[in-house]
Amino acid sequence: MALSNVAGFPRIGRNRELKFATEGHWRGETSAEELAATGKAIRVENWKLMQDAGIDLIPSNDFSHYDQVLDAIALVGAVPERYGWDGGDVDLDTYFAMARGRQTDALDATAQEMTKWFDTNYHYIVPELGPGTQFSLSSSKPFDEHAEAMEELGIDTVPVLIGPVSFLLLSKPADGVSDDFNALDLLESLVEVYGEVIERLAEQGATWVQLDEPCFVADRAERELDALRLAYEELCKVRERPRLLVKTYFDHVGAAYGVLRDLPIEGVGLDFTGVTHEEGAVPAHEHGGRHNAEFVAEHGGLDDQWLFAGIVDGRNVWISHLEHSLDALEGLRDRTAQLVVSTSCSLLHTPIDLDAEPAGGGADLDDETRSWMAFAVQKVGEVATLAKGLADGRGAIAEQLDANDRALDSRRESSRSRNPEVRDRVEALSEADARRDTAFPDRKQVQRQKLGLPSFPATTIGSFPQTDEIRTARRQLRQGEIQLAAYKERMRAEIDRVVAFQEEVGLDVLVHGEPERNDMVQYFGEQMLGFVFTENAWVQSYGSRCVRPPIIFGDVSRPAPMTVEWITYAQSKTEKPIKGMLTGPVTMLEWSFVRDDQPRSETCEQLALAIRDEVADLEKAGIPIIHVDEPAIREGLPLRREHWDEYLRWAVYSFRVATSVVRDDTQIQTHMCYSDFGDILEQIQEMDADVTLIEAARSRMELLHEWEKTGFANDIGPGVYDIHSPRIPTAEEMAELLGEAARVLRPEQIWVTPDCGLKTRAWPETEASLRNMVQAAKQLREELVPAS
Ligand code: GLN
Ligand code: ZN
Repeated sequence: MALSNVAGFPRIGRNRELKFATEGHWRGETSAEELAATGKAIRVENWKLMQDAGIDLIPSNDFSHYDQVLDAIALVGAVPERYGWDGGDVDLDTYFAMARGRQTDALDATAQEMTKWFDTNYHYIVPELGPGTQFSLSSSKPFDEHAEAMEELGIDTVPVLIGPVSFLLLSKPADGVSDDFNALDLLESLVEVYGEVIERLAEQGATWVQLDEPCFVADRAERELDALRLAYEELCKVRERPRLLVKTYFDHVGAAYGVLRDLPIEGVGLDFTGVTHEEGAVPAHEHGGRHNAEFVAEHGGLDDQWLFAGIVDGRNVWISHLEHSLDALEGLRDRTAQLVVSTSCSLLHTPIDLDAEPAGGGADLDDETRSWMAFAVQKVGEVATLAKGLADGRGAIAEQLDANDRALDSRRESSRSRNPEVRDRVEALSEADARRDTAFPDRKQVQRQKLGLPSFPATTIGSFPQTDEIRTARRQLRQGEIQLAAYKERMRAEIDRVVAFQEEVGLDVLVHGEPERNDMVQYFGEQMLGFVFTENAWVQSYGSRCVRPPIIFGDVSRPAPMTVEWITYAQSKTEKPIKGMLTGPVTMLEWSFVRDDQPRSETCEQLALAIRDEVADLEKAGIPIIHVDEPAIREGLPLRREHWDEYLRWAVYSFRVATSVVRDDTQIQTHMCYSDFGDILEQIQEMDADVTLIEAARSRMELLHEWEKTGFANDIGPGVYDIHSPRIPTAEEMAELLGEAARVLRPEQIWVTPDCGLKTRAWPETEASLRNMVQAAKQLREELVPAS
């Protein structure tokens, strides 16, 4: 026998109902009751879908009105003081205030910080804790949802909670709390509240509870492993309690395997994605499944515990290899008291339903490519099929196996998944293609002569404010309301305006402003082969925000120039250098759903070649500087350090392949943001861009400490203008930041730049801020550069 389980289901609703109801509520248009009703309808629909599919263990409390970590904050009453909460159940207003901040006459409280959920593109709310934090049971959400499923559909669901140890490890010290505060000091009191929660769930008839402890797939110290042991030993002592499943995901559990195995918990959830792939086709961040399989096979099985085998990948859009999955599951079956087929993690990271994509919608989403894909609904089906195959034999699922075989064959052999020309080019790449002809100091000489820039040159990251007019023009073109010629005219008018503005403000290296771009990945993906775009495949990014990541389904190439027309137009309007703006290969990869039938590194090299072609064309068209954004390069770092080197090697290599095609006198710039880069400064140096423009204002130039120790060889622009806020920085404060940088770096290597693109800002503050920024650059020139 084998049972089936799903670790969590998307909660935004098939048509993003939750988003619209939630935003309506924030605008005061949707009542709390209406919002609650929308939530309930989504939950009931999800439960019913899993019930109909025959799933044995169906999750609850995987729903959320904003974020599951925020739900846990409310559950244990860890509400920071500034929200003025005075005990009792955390109400919806306080809940949303924590998520979004609140500004009223009575209260002026900033939102809690939000950050990336492991290496996914989902963001969670970071708990703020300190020695004074008092936990108390302050929400009835898990109880209500369990009762609701029982009442509506007679299902004894598995309530899902963030485990107490991960909750603490994901937290940060509250304002004013010293950095040496260790959140694990709060473990005992937190576990007490969790004890109450599971006791109450038992009282209302819950058989199982799922506690997510994803933190244990990263490298963990002894004390943290001890905390895991202690927490669950304590919870297991609760007299009346449900069975406890401790679920991990996103990588292997390493040393935590022994801890979980020895605990008196009834279930262990491990990620097995990657075990079903052909050797060599395992994406880097999915090595974990193989290790987990080895632990179970070699380090003693789970003789008394149920193994929740996360074999259906919860974070991609591809069908499983059913035969291989069955092989792997059969291998696990004898090593556990009870095998449960499950998803690797919550399906929250996948779109909901492939069948919601209109036939003939996205040009490349046809019967063939569709047959390769599975969204959440289809993945639930796969879990059920695998469990049935294990229970009743492969004959019982012959039809599904057959269809799966055919889809996998077509995927393997299709000329769209494999383009020999692209493969030959990747094959033929050598180190020489990933290296500029001369070393940086010599390049700098020739570039300086050609460009004639002042010291402390001022530039931007590419985009300028995206006004309603621009968005309207793009929409009208898409919907066929205006002709291409009219659209181009409007875009050119915008470029004229942006170029003239930059000249007038006194910037040194200009941009065209990116008015034609909806999104920095989508814009390029739409012009490359191997990508497909969807209509309805929304995935929650945070709160009510959803994204539709492009899908890379086949070999990537660039059939024609993508930006040359816009950039050369902009250059024709000014004597100053214009830089061509491109998105780098690693960022294209990170912000897409990536094919899982070959290593990510190979897909990245294909992307690198496509961008290299564009770089070459821009140079040929006379563009003197090419800027290649790689904001996501840090995000792709695997969770375990053992995989860092491998990732960084191919990530840096791909960037260099994309950019090394140019002559010495063509300048390559790059930009990075959204992360702390302290960990990877050495690799940023290895990328060997002539100029690196990097987010720094926001972190108050923390990077300077690193550079003080190591230096940085090439030119560098630490951002001096925090573009995440409408606040206008003064010339003095920016000059001060530049002065600090000039004490650590060489003045002649410093560029002056904002932290990131300006597309989310409004014009008035952009104008004022950039004027001040140019002023700051001029001040530094006067102070630090001797008059000749
Ligand atoms: N060139 C892009 C822009 O200016 C870069 C955005 C980013 O780094 N996220 O918008
Ligand atoms: Zn940026």
